[in-house]
Amino acid sequence: MTRDVEPAVSSLDPQIPKLIKSAERILIVTHISPDGDAIGSLLGLGWAMRATEKEIILACADSIPSPFHFLPGYTYITREPIGSFDLVIGLDASDPQRLGTPWQRASQGQVPTIVIDHHVTNLAFGTVNWVDTRAAATAEMVFDLIKAMKLPLDHNAATCLLCGIVTDTRGFRTSNTTPRTLAIATQLMEAGADLNLITEQTLNRKPLAVLRLWGMALSNMQMRNQILWSTITQKMREETGVNENGDGGLVNTLISANEANIAVVFTEREENQIEVGLRAKPGFDVSKVALALGGGGHPQAAGCTNSGPLEVAQERVLTALEESLGQQEKS
Ligand code: 5GP
Ligand code: MN
Repeated sequence: MTRDVEPAVSSLDPQIPKLIKSAERILIVTHISPDGDAIGSLLGLGWAMRATEKEIILACADSIPSPFHFLPGYTYITREPIGSFDLVIGLDASDPQRLGTPWQRASQGQVPTIVIDHHVTNLAFGTVNWVDTRAAATAEMVFDLIKAMKLPLDHNAATCLLCGIVTDTRGFRTSNTTPRTLAIATQLMEAGADLNLITEQTLNRKPLAVLRLWGMALSNMQMRNQILWSTITQKMREETGVNENGDGGLVNTLISANEANIAVVFTEREENQIEVGLRAKPGFDVSKVALALGGGGHPQAAGCTNSGPLEVAQERVLTALEESLGQQEKS
């Protein structure tokens, strides 16, 4: 059964298919610390573009976290693309820093660049910028592009794109999930994507060590006005044996507290860097504070990385959030 998704709500910039059609060697880059939407959008577009006779290089400056190793084709993603390109496409990133060195090297000079993203904080840093904040995932936009270009949607592309949608909506639970999101997901399942496999691999499983780490972080959480916050230190990670990438997602649990309108997790990284994960209840916004602190995101889910020491970063972020909450309550 085929079902067409209402085209009226798609905002695809018509320049994008034109630029892609006229290019020969295309670099597609996704963001550092890649999540399911970053990797799913990259691979989904990569699989669909195989039908063209073009040379397509997929890149991400960071390695692909193991929960996404079930995705077909992830080993084709390179961290250091070689040579020059006549078109560069950036996916799911609101600023150029977030696309890392592959973007920065390849986009120098006169090379046209396309930005495809759904973050409200997008800085429109490409030659052509297609930013649709109504899309629950960049993977929805990649789906629109594939349809508009009449590229084939095989089961590999469908699996990768559905992974993007499932992870960015946390299983169709976020407030930006729309009927269109579900309609696209239906088409992806009909094209062969296994929703159950994706949900199991990306949402329902984590190592025991991560739960032990979360246990420590949950026991140190603190409430400040309506902000529930917690910290993951290097020492906690060493004690539990959790590596760099394995501690994500805790902030989603914090925001489930009835008493919290905002949740924050501070994670100590190497070289005095503090990663800040932010969440807000529907009706509240953390994207503006994230943007002001050099990061970005969505109204209900955003983040940034600040320099330490830890206590200084915590005070800076919590003070900014308190001020922002005060303004949001007034307006
Ligand atoms: P998460 O907390 O799941 O890592 O990120 C939530 C949202 O904020 C995602 O949409 C992610 O792309 C965005 N985000 C997180 N950290 C940063 C950052 O350092 N810079 C930017 N631009 N966006 C970020
Ligand atoms: Mn996304």
